[in-house]
Amino acid sequence: MTDSTRRVALVTGGSRGIGRATVRALARDGFDVAFCYRSDDVSARTLEKAGDEFGARITGTRVDVADAASVRAWIETTEERLGPIDAAVTAAGITRDNPLVLMEDEQWRQVIETNLDGVYHVCRAVVFGMMKRRRGAIVNLSSVAGVHGHGTQTNYSASKAGIIGFSRALAKETGRSGIRVNAVAPGFIDTDMVAAMNDQARQEALAAIPLRRMGTAEEVADLVAYLVSDRGAYITGAVLQIDGGITL
Ligand code: NAP
Repeated sequence: MTDSTRRVALVTGGSRGIGRATVRALARDGFDVAFCYRSDDVSARTLEKAGDEFGARITGTRVDVADAASVRAWIETTEERLGPIDAAVTAAGITRDNPLVLMEDEQWRQVIETNLDGVYHVCRAVVFGMMKRRRGAIVNLSSVAGVHGHGTQTNYSASKAGIIGFSRALAKETGRSGIRVNAVAPGFIDTDMVAAMNDQARQEALAAIPLRRMGTAEEVADLVAYLVSDRGAYITGAVLQIDGGITL
């Protein structure tokens, strides 16, 4: 049965890591949630079942955020099934690390198309509806790499810096229409994305973090949930770092 008091949220990259934790946090906070992912059907089906815990509808769809037409179709279907979208969180992201001197065009292209074009595709598809309803909250996942740069990650850092400029510009454009747009810039968060680090790199990273540990996906998700909620009603155009102090 449909509960008309529930709001509707969209989350990209929801099958794992920060996206998955965000889907759960938003379902807990009263949203029905549509998420997309690239390939991990097993994790997606498991997450859909978590809706029962929260009395929420959670639906996962395989959509490549780099493909504008697929994103548009997914968003149209979501609005037909769940209703107008109140909140959008773009967490889909990839890394293809290499020093620039060895960077392959394909590595550059894949990261920009997924991380930056993906954010454009989603925001482009939801913004008109939000403007018409004069309400909406968008949170885009950037990174401390987008603020400060990371060696061997020129592609990733450029995509995440692009997300910051994009989010600030969209916040300026749409504030008068009742839409808030913020970026969240995590440091090292314990997800599959950082699991590939070797032991030495992990120890070096931990030594550089004043809080001496990596963050959890749930900690990032709680910040995102705060930003999309009415508790964050006066926050827009912000870039909030959640990084254990690594950039101090
Ligand atoms: P993750 O564990 O690797 O999960 C990535 C998610 O994105 C998965 O659900 C994946 O789907 C999805 N995805 C990847 N490419 C996609 C595409 N083309 N279309 C649709 N979905 C796609 O990543 P994470 O660590 O949670 O990171 C989430 C976001 O936070 C990313 O934007 C990342 O750049 C950012 N971030 C992470 C950290 C960190 O330390 N973890 C730090 C700073 C910023 P499948 O499961 O199907 O592959």
